[in-house]
Amino acid sequence: VENLTKTYASGGSNLTVLHGVNFTLEPGDTFAIVGPSGSGKTTLLGLCAGLDRATSGSVYLNDIRLDTLSEDQRAAIRNQHVGFIFQNFQLLPTLTALENVMVPLELRGERGAQKNAQALLDRVGLGQRGHHYPTQLSGGEQQRVSLARAFANRPKLLFADEPTGNLDADTSATVVDLLFELNREAGTTLVLVTHDLELAARTQRIVRVKGGTVVSDTQERKSERVIERANGE
Ligand code: ATP
Repeated sequence: VENLTKTYASGGSNLTVLHGVNFTLEPGDTFAIVGPSGSGKTTLLGLCAGLDRATSGSVYLNDIRLDTLSEDQRAAIRNQHVGFIFQNFQLLPTLTALENVMVPLELRGERGAQKNAQALLDRVGLGQRGHHYPTQLSGGEQQRVSLARAFANRPKLLFADEPTGNLDADTSATVVDLLFELNREAGTTLVLVTHDLELAARTQRIVRVKGGTVVSDTQERKSERVIERANGE
């Protein structure tokens, strides 16, 4: 992410919500973006995920600069490599919960897609709700279906916006365990926006955003400590 800025035009006035954000993520990292409400976290996540275009600056996925691609090209990359757990996003409304989870398994031509999708729904505690359509599920339940589908998809990158935001403590713990299991098992890079500091503490790196700028980055703190130690010696 290179010098990313975002200005929204709304109601005849402009609102700049990101002011030159920079960071680099390594494959397999687990990464939390935290910060106060309205600080630009969701906007940043949407830009990183290639769902929206920055006003200036660039997002690279490996060496591919996302903002130079057409929407179709970005969609192809998303379908191939990227998973999302966003509320009200991405579940196909005309398919049931079970069918939504089956899609990536069927696309890969896996045998037993239905059985495996059912097992994934069981894991997220929705084994009995497979025949329900997204509109018949609560926001938190839809998020869990998205997680089951992300598990089926085994993406290289997973973006999650408040993955525990709508969940009770027990379900939240299950979802968080599953996220980190996906990271361990499939090497999925996790990029999470969260107000949940316990969840953030489990990630390898925490970036704090305030007023649209990065005010702290635990990786930088780590490297500063290394520099301080080196200077001290
Ligand atoms: P929260 O923690 O409350 O979800 P956030 O840190 O994720 O907040 P964003 O959703 O990125 O914040 O929003 C940052 C700012 O941009 C807010 O002031 C918001 O009102 C504004 N904003 C977001 N989307 C739009 C839009 N499409 N048009 C105009 N302004 C927007």
